[in-house]
Amino acid sequence: MSDLQDNLSAVAPKLQRFQEQTLGHFIDGQASLGTGGETFTNESPIDQSPMGQVVAGSAADIDQACLAAQRAFSAWATMPGDQRREILHKVADAIVANARDIALIESYDTGQALRFMSKAAIRGADNFRFFADMAPSARDGDSLPANEHINYSMRQPIGPVGVITPWNTPFMLSTWKIAPALAAGCTVVHKPAEWSPCSAALLVEIMHEAGLPPGVMNTVNGLGETAGKALTEHPAIKAVAFVGESVTGSRIMRQGSQTLKRVHFELGGKNPVIVFDDADLDKALDAVVFMIYSLNGERCTSSSRLLIQESIRDQFLERLAERVKKLKVGHPLDPATEVGPLIHQRHFDKVCSYFDIAKQEGAKVMVGGEPRPLNGKGHFVAPTLFTEASSKMRIAQEEIFGPVLTAISFSTEAEALAMANDVDYGLAGYVWTSDTGRSLRMARDLEVGMVWVNSENNRHLPSPFGGMKASGIGRDGGDYSFEFYMETKNVCIATGSHTVPKLGV
Ligand code: NAD
Repeated sequence: MSDLQDNLSAVAPKLQRFQEQTLGHFIDGQASLGTGGETFTNESPIDQSPMGQVVAGSAADIDQACLAAQRAFSAWATMPGDQRREILHKVADAIVANARDIALIESYDTGQALRFMSKAAIRGADNFRFFADMAPSARDGDSLPANEHINYSMRQPIGPVGVITPWNTPFMLSTWKIAPALAAGCTVVHKPAEWSPCSAALLVEIMHEAGLPPGVMNTVNGLGETAGKALTEHPAIKAVAFVGESVTGSRIMRQGSQTLKRVHFELGGKNPVIVFDDADLDKALDAVVFMIYSLNGERCTSSSRLLIQESIRDQFLERLAERVKKLKVGHPLDPATEVGPLIHQRHFDKVCSYFDIAKQEGAKVMVGGEPRPLNGKGHFVAPTLFTEASSKMRIAQEEIFGPVLTAISFSTEAEALAMANDVDYGLAGYVWTSDTGRSLRMARDLEVGMVWVNSENNRHLPSPFGGMKASGIGRDGGDYSFEFYMETKNVCIATGSHTVPKLGV
């Protein structure tokens, strides 16, 4: 297995293009530097070194991309599904062929450990394969016979769509949106997060090299308040698929209201993992550690609140603390690294502010609670465990989005449920118990879009993915994705035997 030095040597030539040439957009099958001339600097979270200049897309750039997507729509939407399937499989093949480069660059750009980004790149290919295979049947509808009429329904792609993505696992998340949109027959304008633009550039280039027609997929870099806003307001865009913070979601809803955009939101979370005293505690411990400290805790479905039953609290927290202390924080390209640096100085400052908030609120910092720079640099923080917390504290209510876990104890099932539901968010919940009845009751009563029982976050692409409350609107996965990217049309045909009401006779 390659070590850090091998990985650094492998990534250096790949980074060169970003360092030497301004990263622009990809519109209508071509690279473009846009019209506004403004750029921003992309920095690596590892040591704050510049990774190159990126074009800050203007409203005019977004307009060009949306018009390209509009022009390409008719041919792509009417292309037979099996031809779309073939092209999307070629995209998946090309992602697999480039998976190592994608993972290395993603890791360098986001600070996410390579061990996870290698899998995320392959998962991006899986997303394309999965939705490619659904392309031929995407438009299928129902046959709904009535007494004197036959109704049948069909689905048609809604039109050009906007996809706006965050920085936490940008490559994988983008494919999770773009693949079903294209399989449905929509064309896409993608606005990647400004803090992690590199892998989106690789994706759109790979897609075109794999044979995607020009204009079907367009990428515009830029800031949320300008490029992102213009995309959500553009009249050619019929729907916006957004992944990001809840507060941005509500802004996008306002921005899109003038043009009556359909919106799909995957937003923040403050997900509970509830460990009962009858659980398989070894497995539960592994899952608790994995689901907050993997991906730097920058994961929407991370279980950032541990609700632990009082009878096992002390022994469980003791074992948990030992594991947290042993987590390997380091260079994200080091294969041994488990926790890398946080994406950006602003996010690092936000996460660190909770170390003080926890103390002010009267919680105990059992492990971590401080920055941990690597060679004096980078946005590294120590994996952190807060204990003796209560449900109303900010550390138990707000999404910190770092390797920071807040533990709260409970005595009864009812208390655990009430605490689990006592947040604005409702994305995911994790339950550890050997009592089948209790797992069924919790699964029913948790106010979340997804429940995992005796499991960490295990994904199944046909299953619905999404949140309740402030965590989102709509579901992705399998046919749920097509419900968003397609319109359902009903056709009603008379069999000829009914009488039409006569007026004015
Ligand atoms: P963010 O909301 O700040 O930004 C996300 C994207 O929205 C970026 O591309 C940004 O440029 C753009 N944006 C910002 N303002 C905009 C505006 N006014 N109009 C249009 N676009 C705008 O989120 P982030 O900080 O990049 O990502 C972290 C958040 O994403 C966390 O809250 C996390 O929970 C959430 N997330 C949710 C899921 C999920 O599936 N529920 C998955 C991953 C991340």
